[in-house]
Amino acid sequence: MIAVDNVSLSYGGHQHHQALANISMDVKSGESMALIGPSGCGKSSLLFLIAGLVFPQRGKILVADENVAGPRQDVALIIQNYGLFPWKTVWDNVILGLKLRKLDHAKQKQKVSQLLNVLGLADYQDKYPNQLSGGQQQRVAVARALALEPMLLLMDEPFSALDALTRESLQEMVLDIWLENKMTLVFVTHSIEEAVFLGQKIAIFTPGPGRITTIVENSGMGAKEFRATKQFYQQCSKVRKLLEDGQHESA
Ligand code: ADP
Ligand code: MG
Repeated sequence: MIAVDNVSLSYGGHQHHQALANISMDVKSGESMALIGPSGCGKSSLLFLIAGLVFPQRGKILVADENVAGPRQDVALIIQNYGLFPWKTVWDNVILGLKLRKLDHAKQKQKVSQLLNVLGLADYQDKYPNQLSGGQQQRVAVARALALEPMLLLMDEPFSALDALTRESLQEMVLDIWLENKMTLVFVTHSIEEAVFLGQKIAIFTPGPGRITTIVENSGMGAKEFRATKQFYQQCSKVRKLLEDGQHESA
């Protein structure tokens, strides 16, 4: 689904502002991949590259076997801090993408009410984002992305602003959605537990310019109970160790 081949990215064209250095990574169709690393190591930049919002100076990025030349209709991106429009209601935020696609009106409405129901937002459809809790706003952002029925869902630190319990329940919601829709999922996090709970593979980044040092296989993910297992704990320790090693290496 995604092939990132030897990609380097610098902002402003300067080598000293290099955000990513020689990144390579593959994500298969239906897989979920966590990107984890210290802040500033280029995780968001990699998502934006995959989303077709920025372009690399070197290397190649393919999505569904095509060179990424710009945003695609079948790829949804949830940006940091939700990216909701504050002047639009929950309903209008969620239906937005469908309107842009000029989908049949009745179908749009049906799709949006169904999603709001599934995500527990039906009672909030006429509210504005600032009238909602962080967890509710995040669910609106997820609903808006899912309305587009993407084959690839990209999420940038989707739950970082939430309290622990809300965060865990939304992680479980995303797990359900991923299991049910069999979409490809790539998400950025700086939470080790989140990476291990939701990532079938976990790409470990070093501080900038970002490189991927290791991709951890995490075949145990996929069940809600995973969080309570010894394997989960062991995987968290492994990821923590790799992150620490990366820090030392570049220090
Ligand atoms: P992360 O998401 O891992 O925190 P980013 O991808 O946001 O990292 O940023 C990687 C590096 O690129 C950082 O050093 C950041 O300051 C720099 N950077 C990000 N966006 C821009 C931009 N638009 N212009 C210049 N530098 C940027
Ligand atoms: Mg970021």
